[in-house]
Amino acid sequence: MSLSTLAKSIAESPTLKLNEEAQKLRERGEAIINMGVGEPKNKAPLNAILSSAARLTTGDIKYSPTDGIPSLKKAILRYTEENYDKIVRPENVIVSSGAKQSIFNVLYTILNPQDEVIVLAPYWVSYPEMIKMCWGVPVVVTPEDGRFEPTLAEVEERVSQNTKAIILNSPNNPSGWLYSEEFVASLVDFCERRDIYLIMDDIYHKLVFDGRTTPSAYKFTNKDIESTKVIVINGISKLYGMTGFRIGWAVAPKQIVEVMTNVQVQTTSCTSVVLQAAAEGALNGLQSLVETMRLTMENNRDVIVQELRSFTGVKIIEPRGTFYAFPDFRAYNKSSVELARFLLKKAKVVVVPGKEFGMEGHIRLSFAVTLKDITESIARIKWALDPNSPNEIYIGDRKLVRDWM
Ligand code: PMP
Repeated sequence: MSLSTLAKSIAESPTLKLNEEAQKLRERGEAIINMGVGEPKNKAPLNAILSSAARLTTGDIKYSPTDGIPSLKKAILRYTEENYDKIVRPENVIVSSGAKQSIFNVLYTILNPQDEVIVLAPYWVSYPEMIKMCWGVPVVVTPEDGRFEPTLAEVEERVSQNTKAIILNSPNNPSGWLYSEEFVASLVDFCERRDIYLIMDDIYHKLVFDGRTTPSAYKFTNKDIESTKVIVINGISKLYGMTGFRIGWAVAPKQIVEVMTNVQVQTTSCTSVVLQAAAEGALNGLQSLVETMRLTMENNRDVIVQELRSFTGVKIIEPRGTFYAFPDFRAYNKSSVELARFLLKKAKVVVVPGKEFGMEGHIRLSFAVTLKDITESIARIKWALDPNSPNEIYIGDRKLVRDWM
């Protein structure tokens, strides 16, 4: 079959593939614990539901402005002012179908063929694929072993004439790492000086722990919104647990938003007005639920870190945000893909191999699950990996039997 070489080269989503595999095993009656999926378990905020339902019941669901309905953009302007201490105008905002589409549209808007984009390992799986889809070249910066944060010098080493942008996701999926203020400040300064876009993927920015806050990149530049190289991506998927509503946005200089709007109008026309109404409801509604979610995740983080620390040979850098832990399991298996397969088959636990995030030997465990799932999954993993563990064991109400050596 004749297909596009570029399209054929795009990798499938490892997380979605694992979910499908886990679902199949579940249908066969296996008690799978899914630590692979990256979404909170909460129901959508009531205000979001009421707001979208009100819109839906008008029956007047039509095309809407490509860059977003004015009332949602107004809520985003307020969000930006409150959380970033930055006043921007409606022309600086574009709403898309998820932060994922926002990032893709930014890349499509700024990249020429062969332009390079720097991503920091461990990175979100979609960045390199999206860059390639825009005919760009992903350039990976990997920090020194045992760290999640590179130095600015390590980043600079990979910068070339062709570097168009750097993507920073803080706190980070998959490591939970919150980059230091000094690092973010130096990166902003570097990008402004060298005329390189800095795409801040802030999708988890309020899910940070231990009294920390995610610094706003705008704080480190004195350029105004029209001349800054900083582009901020955000959305409702993670903070409000509204992954299925598919709303995200970008805040950028007007000229970028204008081209992004053309890219969007020629591909999806606009984002559904019903879903935009839901996002507006979430942003204008009770914000204490974000704090409740943050506290739940912080508590879950404490439990998973404690469990992982009790594990001989496993190295864990404590997550400072998000809902992911990214321990180093090289003591057990250097191949994270092999290890993830083994754990799914034998311990019936879904984890995502670190290789997919550009950091081999690690596995990503989502702790946006119940405390029972956290403790049981780690107990199962421990049992499966310890050659001295009993052949048969009850973990929770589940009997596990060793059928391998
Ligand atoms: N960026 C990162 C780092 C993510 O983890 C995700 C979701 N997994 C996204 C962006 C995309 O979010 P959305 O659901 O808004 O498309």
